[in-house]
Amino acid sequence: MLQSGRHLNAGQPGRTATVAALNDLAHWRAQVFTRILQFVLVLGLLTALPSMVLNLSKGLWSVAVLDVAALSWLVAIWRFGGMSYKARVLNLLAVCFLFGVGLLVKIGPVSQIYLMAVPVLAALLLGLRAGLCGLAATSAALLLIGYQTDTFPDLAGLQVGRLLKWCIITLNYLFITAVLTLSCGVLLRRLASSLDELRATAVSLAEGQDALHALNAELRLTAAAVARLNDMVMIAEVASGAGEQRIIFVNQAFERRTGYRREEVLGRSLRLLQGPDTARGTLERIALAMGRSEAVRAELLNYTRGGEPYWVETELVPFADEGGNYTHWVAVERDISERKKSEDDIHRLAYFDVLTGLPNRRLLMDRIDKLLASAERGATISAVMHIGLDNFKYINEARGHAIGDALLKNAAIRLAQLTRKADTVARIGGDEFVVLLAHLGGDNAGAAHAALMVAEKVRHVIAQDFTIEGQSYASSASIGVTLMPPGGKGAQDLLREADIAMHRAKAGHQGVAFFEAAMQADVEQRLNLERELASAIETHQLSMHVQAQVDHAGRPIGAELLMRWQRPDGSWVPPSRFIPLAEESGQILHLGTWALRQACTAVLQLAQAGHPLPLSVNVSPNQFRQADFVEQVRAILSDSGAPAALLIFEVTEGLLIDNLDDTIARMRELAALGIRFSIDDFGTGYSSLAYLKKMPLYELKIDKSFIQDTPGDASVTAIVQSILAMARHLGLRVVAEGVETQEQANFLIDNDCHAMQGYLYARPAPLPALLAMLRATSAVTVE
Ligand code: C2E
Ligand code: CA
Ligand code: CA
Repeated sequence: MLQSGRHLNAGQPGRTATVAALNDLAHWRAQVFTRILQFVLVLGLLTALPSMVLNLSKGLWSVAVLDVAALSWLVAIWRFGGMSYKARVLNLLAVCFLFGVGLLVKIGPVSQIYLMAVPVLAALLLGLRAGLCGLAATSAALLLIGYQTDTFPDLAGLQVGRLLKWCIITLNYLFITAVLTLSCGVLLRRLASSLDELRATAVSLAEGQDALHALNAELRLTAAAVARLNDMVMIAEVASGAGEQRIIFVNQAFERRTGYRREEVLGRSLRLLQGPDTARGTLERIALAMGRSEAVRAELLNYTRGGEPYWVETELVPFADEGGNYTHWVAVERDISERKKSEDDIHRLAYFDVLTGLPNRRLLMDRIDKLLASAERGATISAVMHIGLDNFKYINEARGHAIGDALLKNAAIRLAQLTRKADTVARIGGDEFVVLLAHLGGDNAGAAHAALMVAEKVRHVIAQDFTIEGQSYASSASIGVTLMPPGGKGAQDLLREADIAMHRAKAGHQGVAFFEAAMQADVEQRLNLERELASAIETHQLSMHVQAQVDHAGRPIGAELLMRWQRPDGSWVPPSRFIPLAEESGQILHLGTWALRQACTAVLQLAQAGHPLPLSVNVSPNQFRQADFVEQVRAILSDSGAPAALLIFEVTEGLLIDNLDDTIARMRELAALGIRFSIDDFGTGYSSLAYLKKMPLYELKIDKSFIQDTPGDASVTAIVQSILAMARHLGLRVVAEGVETQEQANFLIDNDCHAMQGYLYARPAPLPALLAMLRATSAVTVE
């Protein structure tokens, strides 16, 4: 383009001709000659007429004839334009020469003046050499003809011979004429060389001008091309210091794509097009390159004036001035949104399941690999859970693929809703899903437990009927789980293990199976225990023990009901084992209701025996939070006929963490029935005076962990004392739990603790034991 541009205006004929004409001395001489001829004619006529009259009056016929002849000749030269320049000049010179010779013969030395014209004009019109020839010829003529035809007196009285006289005349003539001829000749030579120089300058000027024109045209062409380019072009000034790169040019493509008009962006920062999702990392890389004045290429997400995002491939090139200083940045950007979109499509097809939109096997493997890498660093345990839909194949075959697909989609949605953000739910084929549970815990048991919880939830959501086109379909899931301990296994191994476990679960109809044998044993035990507990109430394996609460004199003033589970084989399952299990499986609701009924029965039995003691019953947070809890309590009270005033509900501080207002409202409803509230394990949770004041509370139970260290440990003792003081201040009763020694009892009595509960006074035992104790103490009192 550069080359072709340069040739655009090169070689203009008009200007070259002008230059040539300027330089052409011959041309110039021709013009001068024409003028001289005109002058000679006009002046010749003007001088010839008076001279002719004079000559005729004096009888000088020959001179008059000479005049006429010379004038005629001149007219002829003037008129015959066809003659060459040289011929015309020679004619003119001949006229002058012959006229001069004629006058020399007729009039004498005065004719020198005409002779002189010959060399001078020759030098002027033909050059120095012709001038010198003319000088030689006229000098010779003057000397010879003057000498031959000498009819004139001596020179100003100089007594010399004729030859010498003419030699003197000729020498004088020669001297002045030579000076004039040489001056003329040298002047013209100089003029010629000056003209040469001038011509060279003119030529170079003309060339420069041509180049400038070409450059100008090229610039216009480039500007037009850039303006009409399909790529977006921005030019910005290099920022000084910490300033911004200010835009000084944008092309039409830029205006079209971004929606900004040129006037709007000029002077604004290059960052104008960046937005919330423009990759920070890429921007930093660009900034780094710009800082080093290096060209940089990148793919960026830009935003139009209206906020629509679009992808560009951008190339930023620094532009240096002649001094090598970087003055501008040229950014050329190409819209690659389409390409990005197809890349995304390809990515989606490559990494996601088309039917459900869930990650596919490949992406799953990727994620497992990443997790394995991070597990090596952080040493947390994750789990791979393989889920198979048990009767999918049957539905798919019997009801057709459309129903089958809909079922899979629904299952996918349910699974996706169930998991945390960090987890991955993938579909790896047919009716097989894999859930990758990230970072479940630091140890195997904890992680296995957490995985089992999720597995139970999965089983639960899949077990809900699927309604497709108005028809409902039952399904169930078999789940295989394998743990991902740090190191060792690869993604393939883990998927295979989970798959094996899933098939084991399916074959054994057990719902969930772990690949690891130890985990499996644990899980099976839990599942068995859960199953056993479900039938424990009906098979009368559960019972309620009571543990007395005594006053400072050791007299029972209340008792706590504690649940006991004895298996048919006679073994006891501790509450610390089955209560949390029941909480997790939801069985606690059933157990809680049963415990409440038992409490009512016990209250009535005590009252009938003449000991209307209040009984404390433990209420789990899940139980308390049931929407119809108040209704249940009311129903149980009215069924049993037990007075609410003899029931104390023990709740833990955990209940108060969320929905405090709801909890308090519900407590008030129950309090209105006559039920009293006690905060169990007080001091271990989130005690705050603020909520204590708001609740309809009756008592606090100081946790046994504090009592154990009292009064031995000074700081723990201080805590117990401050709880007692605070309770007194709030008007609450205090029960100390886990009192095992007399020393503990003495300390509590000394500090005005209202009631004590612990092995020191009584172990939890069936109700008859409490009745016996009551009888014993009342007997003592009676005595
Ligand atoms: P908790 O409500 O704090 O019950 C007091 C626990 O302290 C009982 O354990 C009791 O046997 C024990 N204990 C009483 N005196 C002493 C003592 O002097 N020294 C020691 N070391 N321990 C003493 P248990 O019966 O094993 O019950 C454990 C937990 O199970 C209870 O703690 C309670 O949270 C829960 N639980 C028991 N029965 C029920 C129930 O019917 N419903 C609900 N929701 N939870 C219950
Ligand atoms: Ca309790
Ligand atoms: Ca307790």
